Amino acid sequence: DSGLSVRRITVLGATGSIGISTLDVIARHPGRYRVEALSAYSRMEVLAAQAAASRARAVVVPDDAAAARFAAAWPAGAGGLPEVRVGAQALADTAADPASDTVMAAIVGAAGLPSALAAARAGKRVLLANKEALVVAGVLFMDAVREHGAELLPIDSEHNAIFQCLPRGGARAHAPRQPAAGVRRLLLTASGGPFRTRPLHELDEVTPDQACAHPNWSMGRKISVDSATMLNKGLEVIEAHWLFAMPASRISVVVHPQSVVHSMVEYDDGSVLAQLGQPDMRTPIAYGLAFPDRIEAGVTALDLARLGRLDFEDPDFARFPCLRLAFQALEAGQGACVALNAANEVAVDAFLRGGLRYTHIPAAIESVLDATAGRAAPEASLDALLACDAHARACARDRIGRLTAGA
Ligand code: NAD
Ligand code: MG
Repeated sequence: DSGLSVRRITVLGATGSIGISTLDVIARHPGRYRVEALSAYSRMEVLAAQAAASRARAVVVPDDAAAARFAAAWPAGAGGLPEVRVGAQALADTAADPASDTVMAAIVGAAGLPSALAAARAGKRVLLANKEALVVAGVLFMDAVREHGAELLPIDSEHNAIFQCLPRGGARAHAPRQPAAGVRRLLLTASGGPFRTRPLHELDEVTPDQACAHPNWSMGRKISVDSATMLNKGLEVIEAHWLFAMPASRISVVVHPQSVVHSMVEYDDGSVLAQLGQPDMRTPIAYGLAFPDRIEAGVTALDLARLGRLDFEDPDFARFPCLRLAFQALEAGQGACVALNAANEVAVDAFLRGGLRYTHIPAAIESVLDATAGRAAPEASLDALLACDAHARACARDRIGRLTAGA
């Protein structure tokens, strides 16, 4: 790895599934990367161990109580504490800090938008795992990437696959204004999640642990539930729309239970290019870190003969109403996408706490979309988008209260 300038990486959401995988890849290449800052919202013991092992210069935690827990968890013999920064403003400031050149945006939910946007506005290489940022602020985020010369590399495995299969115009990853020439369609693959074949009448009774038991991927609990409902694929359709400037009518979803083909690009001449690999997020993470080079990611080789077969089927919109709701929201505009995401975050949180039935997740989202329909789409300002988000969350809590009262 010698002869390369060392990349200085900040990992936002370090203690999560993506954050842990990111630090795993980085640790395999000590001469190539150094860790500048790490952030976490909870699990301060994990953050302390990560910061000590990676010799991070700074950490960002949500409040003073978390800062105290972090200090108490700092391992004896690890040397002096890193700088401990506190609060949401510190998170955005750290994302924009000139001390780093690359920011992994791996916070879950719309909570990750301000810091991801701050990284884009600071012209960083942004490794975007936080798909909710693009769902909530598509225009604002992509404009920021363009205006500030940021480099945007999709980490979501489907979008990373598409990025790899698209024609590449130059060594920099930029934000396109129109679909790539010669491309007819983007084909997003979806595993179908844990309930792909479960009898529909049983879905009423499924538990959070069953919903989080994804057949192929190990992920945080929120995205695991989203994968079960396929709202995740809906968010990914919206994400693909913004990342690749592709109209919704040219984005298709195909169910592929093995999660080996990570997505595809169909060209005008009939060619279909696919990216394949193990369902292991270290592959797209390593791709984003090293782009345009390739580095070892710790991922085992794909053994196609052992797999034997790859299956594909159309998505069942009756089984997965959330997918239809996401296409509708994209059609309706930015305000509806904000409402879709906010309602889903509130509904999934309620489901995970045992306060909402699984089958009420789409019902809650649909009723929030109906209630907020026609609200102006304030796509040009972060504050306006966050106000829209807060309004939709309040609406969702109200609707969920009524759904559970009537249950
Ligand atoms: P996770 O729940 O495992 O981790 C989330 C991280 O964000 C943690 O470090 C947590 O402390 C932090 N966090 C949570 N709430 C926060 C808040 N309000 N403010 C600041 N920090 C907060 O989630 P994950 O599975 O790693 O997913 C992270 C993001 O990556 C999500 O947007 C998800 O959709 C996306 N993504 C994940 C995967 C995957 O395989 N896990 C794949 C594709 C995309
Ligand atoms: Mg994905």
